[in-house]
Amino acid sequence: MNVRNCVKCGKIFNYITGVPICPACKSNLEDQFQVTKKYIRDNPSANISQVADDCDVSMKLIHQWVREERLIFAEGSAIGIECELCGKTIRTGRYCDQCKHDIQHNLNGAYDKEKIEKLKADKVKNKMRYLNKDSLR
Ligand SMILES: [Zn+2]
Ligand SMILES: [Zn+2]
Repeated sequence: MNVRNCVKCGKIFNYITGVPICPACKSNLEDQFQVTKKYIRDNPSANISQVADDCDVSMKLIHQWVREERLIFAEGSAIGIECELCGKTIRTGRYCDQCKHDIQHNLNGAYDKEKIEKLKADKVKNKMRYLNKDSLR
């Protein structure tokens, strides 16, 4: 039998697969998720730290849910997270539409970590170039 310690409460449980979280903590987490989701729907103008405070969840967890595309912020909502490539504010997922397109275009849709890093570096470089141009005016 495969037993592990729960990463949240430390209790020993029958481990099957995925993140080692015991069934009790998992359902707790699911409850928190539902509460958060409802809160965001009812309070579209709340920012992330407000959501974290009122729902008693960590901001890290909220970010994680957004990255997993489980939480989606309303269009025009005050909250959003940053595109991992260019830093633009997005409502869900990991990349903005433009970067998603770039990844598809440049990497044939393969999310190769190394190539994504390179793409990211190029974008930063481009941004710097624009900044320099602006400062010369
Ligand atoms: Zn647990
Ligand atoms: Zn982007």
